[in-house]
Amino acid sequence: MFIDHDYIEKILEEAKNVSKEEIQGVIDKAKKREGLNHKEVAILLQIEDKNQMDQIFKLAGEIKESIYGKRIVMFAPLYVSNHCVNNCVYCGYKRDNKFPRRKLTQEEVATEVKILESMGHKRIALEVGEDPINVPIDYILECIDTIYKTQNDNGEIRRINVNIAATTTENYRKLKNANIGTYILFQETYHKPTYEKMHPKSIKGDYDYHLHSFDRAMEAGIDDVGGGVLFGLADPKFEVLALMLHNEHLEEKFKVGFHTISVPRLKKAEGMSLEDFPNILDDETFKKVVAIIRIAVPFTGIILSTRENKEIRRELLRYGVSQISAGSVTGVGGYKEKEEGRSVNQFETSDERSPLEVLKELVSDGYIPSYCTACYRKGRTGERFMVLAKTGEIQNVCEPNALMSLVEYALDYGDEEIKKQVDELIESIKDDFQKQNVRKMVESRIERLKNGERDLYV
Ligand code: SAM
Repeated sequence: MFIDHDYIEKILEEAKNVSKEEIQGVIDKAKKREGLNHKEVAILLQIEDKNQMDQIFKLAGEIKESIYGKRIVMFAPLYVSNHCVNNCVYCGYKRDNKFPRRKLTQEEVATEVKILESMGHKRIALEVGEDPINVPIDYILECIDTIYKTQNDNGEIRRINVNIAATTTENYRKLKNANIGTYILFQETYHKPTYEKMHPKSIKGDYDYHLHSFDRAMEAGIDDVGGGVLFGLADPKFEVLALMLHNEHLEEKFKVGFHTISVPRLKKAEGMSLEDFPNILDDETFKKVVAIIRIAVPFTGIILSTRENKEIRRELLRYGVSQISAGSVTGVGGYKEKEEGRSVNQFETSDERSPLEVLKELVSDGYIPSYCTACYRKGRTGERFMVLAKTGEIQNVCEPNALMSLVEYALDYGDEEIKKQVDELIESIKDDFQKQNVRKMVESRIERLKNGERDLYV
């Protein structure tokens, strides 16, 4: 068993007695950008010294910049059903919450997709509650098919990441055949007693089955899996160490660890009160967690949602976050309902800006917001992606692709302000592209985009 509670607690305890010099040794090792093992991560988790913590923040920023460059991947969630047989204490969709449940018809799915496309989105995370009778795998597959087929002028969803409950190898195989991007599943908490308390009398309450979901998904051929913890349920140090052990387990068994790690923090939802959760993370601890994850697994994307407000999102982009959502709604049929009135949300969000507003801030902060989905569509997934990432080769395709996807966005969904920002951005990175020998290629493709062609990835 790769998660052993006594072992995790022992490692964390031992790390408390480590000298400042040993901590410095781990920080120096992290500077090589090759990642850290779980024992080293345990040491960083125990840092109290401000100076050493500042070094971690700085290093996390440098590592992120050197591996991801300036690009930030954009996505939005799409909720298609809130039927749920589980009773997760923290969740607004728990079965004890009485409200009219619904699942979207395929026509309604298409309506939501068109709204998302008209905001410029190309990548979505498909979200549902768990209900094998009302929402069987065939319904999910039908939704995936509808989403990929629904176009809106130049708009199309090019990558669907799927965040559905733990399921069987056979169902994972079906998802693989439906061409999903990443299969995302949050462990919620790795701490078994807390897990069982949070998921009373339900299918989701089976800790071991949930924990081994990625084993089944990868056995079924899914290359990219995205893990995560719902921070606020249990001790964050325990959770981060367990995440690292889970990652090591996948690396050993499948030669590739998490493609992404999500860092959701518990938010207010219907039928729960934040006061009942003693492990809520303050902002400082949260920042520390993100920075440590960044230097521990430099090649794993870190995803931050609109659960967080714009100030924290802006700061965490500097410490390691590489992927963010924008314009999100967490209710079923919510994109249409948002235009019309109230929808039942799974939890509260804190960054209500439109994607266009988020993009403008990103560009003015020096980032390249990216709608690129090329890797997965060109077969650069799983171990293949990691090899390219670790050798740095991926850089030569990522930045041009990100820029081209941004140009595409500005042409189809932008206003004059962002078009001007994008022109200035192109001017400012010309020399970098010259050095990478890709300037001519990028310039000619931007011309082709301006002439109406689309989807021009390297
Ligand atoms: N039902 C699926 C499952 O069991 O994994 C899909 C997950 S749900 C649509 C997405 C995630 O929202 C959950 O995994 C959980 O971590 C998160 N979530 C639930 N309640 C939340 C809350 N009150 N605040 C923040 N995130 C929450």
